[in-house]
Amino acid sequence: MTDRYAVFGQPIAHSQSPRIHAAFAAQEGISLDYRAIEAGQDDFAAALQAFVADGGVGANITAPLKEAAFALCKTYTSRAKLAGSVNTLLRKGDYWHGDTTDGVGLVRDLTERHSLDLRGRRVLLLGAGGSARSVAPALLDAGILEMVVVNRSPERADALIDAIGEPGRARTRYWEDLRELGDFELIVNATSAGRDRDVEFKLPLSLVNSLTTAVDLNYGEAAIAFLAWARAAGCRNVVDGLGMLVEQAATSFQQWHGVHPQTNAVYAALRAEHALAGED
Ligand code: NDP
Repeated sequence: MTDRYAVFGQPIAHSQSPRIHAAFAAQEGISLDYRAIEAGQDDFAAALQAFVADGGVGANITAPLKEAAFALCKTYTSRAKLAGSVNTLLRKGDYWHGDTTDGVGLVRDLTERHSLDLRGRRVLLLGAGGSARSVAPALLDAGILEMVVVNRSPERADALIDAIGEPGRARTRYWEDLRELGDFELIVNATSAGRDRDVEFKLPLSLVNSLTTAVDLNYGEAAIAFLAWARAAGCRNVVDGLGMLVEQAATSFQQWHGVHPQTNAVYAALRAEHALAGED
């Protein structure tokens, strides 16, 4: 039976992961069967079981299943354990080993592709879902000064901050208090709000200073609303999630195949098709 890989999520039809992993595999001379499988909270466990029966040995997990996938793993990398969320599953015998590569993927994209020095930055993280839980510890590890997490459901932000356990550097505030938080050198949108076509980001301009970089984990249409706000607010740099997408995939690929692929050609090909929101 051929070893099978897949990405699970909902919606999943437009996922770029099968294409990215196929390109990495071609580059490394590895033969690969990697597909997109649609699954929601209710049918994910059954879909994953069927995948294993069919030869599934590795999977990527995307919204909204990252925390559900964590619950289905027996062992974890330390960063996945801290995040309580996984985007990469590795089959080990009869169980799943979980990892989270979103955070390292974002940091690699910002520091290597965009040459940003994250050290000493005040960071505002919008969102506390599965991806935010991976991104927050990775940004702290990268040497940021301080992080404030704001989420629509405050209890989810509190849970994220409790898991990190660095009260001196990372704390939560309410969305209604954004005006009182001062300014930030990095503002990260880790919400899925932009997937709603009618959404508008009405964030205070006081969050922005002369150095602010705004990063949306989303790309394409889902990044339009936040990046439009960032441009109007005068952010110095705007970055979408396309580079992160490629970098998190590369780290997953390394976990499965033992080799870290080159990412620049794959990124350039995707960028040619997905202009940065707001640019022609
Ligand atoms: P989750 O479903 O786990 O979390 C969604 C987050 O968005 C929660 O914080 C949720 O708040 C918030 N949210 C949803 N709708 C709204 C809204 N209308 N207003 C304010 N907040 C809202 O998703 P993930 O964390 O896995 O992913 C978040 C986004 O990041 C997705 O759009 C995903 O595609 C993108 N992403 C991109 C990656 C990349 O490689 N480029 C990697 C990972 C994610 P609440 O808790 O209140 O529901």
